[in-house]
Amino acid sequence: MNQPLRGFERCVVVGAGPVGLVAALAAARRGVSVLVVEGEGRQRVRPGSRAIVLAYPTLRRFDAVLPGLGRAVAAEGIGLSGYDAYYAGRRVFRYRAGEGVLGRVARSDRLVTSLPQRVTETHLYEACLREGVEFRWESPVSEVVTRRDGVEVVLASGERLGAAYVIGADGARSVVRKSIGATMRGAPDDTPFIIVDVEAHPDGSTPTTPGHFYYREPRVDGRNVMHMPFRGGMRIDLQCQPGDDVDYLASPKGIREWTSRVVDPWYGNHVTWVSTYRFHQEVADTFTDRHHRVLLAGEAAHLFAPWGGRGLNSGVFDATDAASAIATALESRTRAEAVRAIARCATTRRRWGVHNRDVSSRALHVMRAPTPAIRTTRALAARIAPAFWPAGAWLANGPIQLTPPRVGSLDLY
Ligand SMILES: Cc1cc2nc3c(=O)[nH]c(=O)nc-3n(C[C@H](O)[C@H](O)[C@H](O)COP(=O)(O)OP(=O)(O)OC[C@H]3O[C@@H](n4cnc5c(N)ncnc54)[C@H](O)[C@@H]3O)c2cc1C
Repeated sequence: MNQPLRGFERCVVVGAGPVGLVAALAAARRGVSVLVVEGEGRQRVRPGSRAIVLAYPTLRRFDAVLPGLGRAVAAEGIGLSGYDAYYAGRRVFRYRAGEGVLGRVARSDRLVTSLPQRVTETHLYEACLREGVEFRWESPVSEVVTRRDGVEVVLASGERLGAAYVIGADGARSVVRKSIGATMRGAPDDTPFIIVDVEAHPDGSTPTTPGHFYYREPRVDGRNVMHMPFRGGMRIDLQCQPGDDVDYLASPKGIREWTSRVVDPWYGNHVTWVSTYRFHQEVADTFTDRHHRVLLAGEAAHLFAPWGGRGLNSGVFDATDAASAIATALESRTRAEAVRAIARCATTRRRWGVHNRDVSSRALHVMRAPTPAIRTTRALAARIAPAFWPAGAWLANGPIQLTPPRVGSLDLY
């Protein structure tokens, strides 16, 4: 166990998903030499739109890491500047950025930008290459062994790499998380969502703004359904109900049938990706190891339902904070100072993880309405919304759960 480590790296990032790429970029920008170790090949094509919604605090964080990066990513997306909410077939809320009461309090004229996750990943990867980040593709990690003086990263090939610090950004089934003995706390959600990506309509009629959310939509037998455009297409999410034949609803015939009731039937024949997604609401019990040599980030550290847009947005904050803590630890004059930097980051990010899980759980609660109390509140809000806009705003904010920044911080995640 205590043999010298070969190929010593200052920082190894496990996983070249969006969170690992941001972590590597942020560490490199702080002058740390970084190696990213990724299980899959460089030419892989990651399917689906996945994390389409990037909020403006996240784009600002990109800009803080690399000036211009946030603006470049935002320019690739559609700036969603509004939102329409419907309840039982009736529109109860309409918001356009800059208009009305909310327009006067909102700081930005756009709420979020919307683009396929792989476009964000391409920007991050190219920035990493420019900043000298090194990559090892097709190198799955089978274990990490932490010691007081560093970390041994064991590859499936048997090769062992040494690192002063490791960022575990290896996703939901994280090997790094398991290796440091962290466990996920929380519960999976019961009924699935069907997420369908469709092409943009060639006649240009695909909405480019806003998002549409329909509660208890009669055209789909009272289910909740949402559609939101992203650059190059549109995403349509159907919330299944207990007892639904999910396989049928996710089949080409089933998708054609229910999508044609909410959008132009053309879309049902131009599906590019389908995913049946059962949400998890979980946060790791610790984000670091006992020697304070490893930090977890992104889905290695937490899993949230996409509602509330917390998944990738919060992963970006985990990653950049982890990179910053590692840079500080490497610059520290004493071991105690270094340990403090890592421990502080792990504690703070875990606290945000629990907060973000609670926010997306609130979104799920409003949408699922599992209790008579929430069902009554929703129905009442819909009834009074035409006369009392905050009731409509509350319903519209159900799935997105935009919250004001915390006192003393511009961060939302
Ligand atoms: C259907 C779907 C819809 C989603 N919608 C949204 C949304 O609307 N909004 C949102 O914010 N989020 C959404 N998400 C979640 C979002 O995609 C994730 O939050 C994001 O991908 C997490 O990034 P990550 O880098 O932490 O993990 P990942 O993207 O999973 O990346 C992990 C990387 O680690 C690599 N890896 C894994 N194990 C190893 C190993 N042992 N050794 C080396 N490499 C390894 C993997 O190959 C991968 O490249 C969605 C996800 C799905 C699947």
